Amino acid sequence: MRERLAQWARGALDLLYPPRCAGCGRLGSLFCASCLARVELLRPPICEHCGRPVSVAGLCSFCRHTSSALDAIRAAALFAEPLRSAIHHFKYENRQALAGPLASLLHECWQRQPFPADVLIPVPLHERRLRERGYNQAALLARELGRGLGLPVVEEAVRRERETRPQVGLTATERRQNVADAFHCSNGALRGRGVLLIDDVCTTGATLEACATALRQEGEAASVWALVVARPWGLDDGQPNLKP
Ligand SMILES: [Zn+2]
Ligand SMILES: [Zn+2]
Repeated sequence: MRERLAQWARGALDLLYPPRCAGCGRLGSLFCASCLARVELLRPPICEHCGRPVSVAGLCSFCRHTSSALDAIRAAALFAEPLRSAIHHFKYENRQALAGPLASLLHECWQRQPFPADVLIPVPLHERRLRERGYNQAALLARELGRGLGLPVVEEAVRRERETRPQVGLTATERRQNVADAFHCSNGALRGRGVLLIDDVCTTGATLEACATALRQEGEAASVWALVVARPWGLDDGQPNLKP
């Protein structure tokens, strides 16, 4: 209850006071023009499958040796300041209005390379996490992007049935084990559809993979792509750093 009140109070303050830039703290906008100009967009050459920067076009060394339930992952930008701060505020500080500027990065990425998807699905939170936070940041992004693209958003298609530890600090193998079988899909309406998964950040891609597996095996989706706002350079877990 106290958390709810605190969230409500923060929301009310946003209405009373002009917004502060989530990147640099300057008053006047949610994410100011100079911070936006500092966002490092991920442009080719990128790995055809996972979207990470590579020095030569094609598949990165990780994707060359790994099978995937995803058709491809694209990240709009590098997970670095000032975008890192903006995503932190968006996710953990109840700055829900940042869905607008962050989704516009997704929209630009889509325009650079459209996906043949006909429905957007946000990566779900576990019910308990959703109650604590009060909102699913991925769902806010998906709704904004869906409005911009004129595509439907299906929010109840995938459920996160098992609570998982936060992925931060886990190795790639631990991340995969942590989310394996965490997601389930019982939505028959996705059969044969092209699905685009939406999330804020992707590190190893383990969460997106687990979601995509449920969508393909249980939901019988024809294809599953993923689009995220940001992705770090490397995997920070002993995998080769792919920075060219
Ligand atoms: Zn700023
Ligand atoms: Zn790759």
